[in-house]
Amino acid sequence: MLGNVSKWLRILGYETLFLKIPSDEALLRLSQENDRILLTSDEELFKKAKSRGIATIFINPNLSLKDKLIKVFKESNLQPQLNNTRCTVCGGELSKVEINELKEFLFASDFWVCKRCGKLYWKGSHWKNIMKMYDELCKELNT
Ligand SMILES: [Zn+2]
Repeated sequence: MLGNVSKWLRILGYETLFLKIPSDEALLRLSQENDRILLTSDEELFKKAKSRGIATIFINPNLSLKDKLIKVFKESNLQPQLNNTRCTVCGGELSKVEINELKEFLFASDFWVCKRCGKLYWKGSHWKNIMKMYDELCKELNT
């Protein structure tokens, strides 16, 4: 349910694990042991996490993507950032690479590759959407 939120948090600079673990217990332990903030749309899981003192944010599944992200940033006291974008597939760090052969082909000049899974990134047409979301979030969060 929160796959999209997870993807956007990676774009906006945060290492995110998106897990489809059916066991609440495993998720709770993982959050606790790794000091992670547990994002969930599952009210039961949210209550369990709270009662154990685990940092958790409940995300109403009916909110728009933008409102979900605003909720996460507000409650975690984090800011969206575009200088630390993570791989949307695996959450790995990106490193800049020079690929002259692709410049003409992809109409782009800057490329990044995921250090973990090898996925290639460039600022294509999707970058406009990312900038738009980033601007809107910053506006909302700083007012
Ligand atoms: Zn990756």
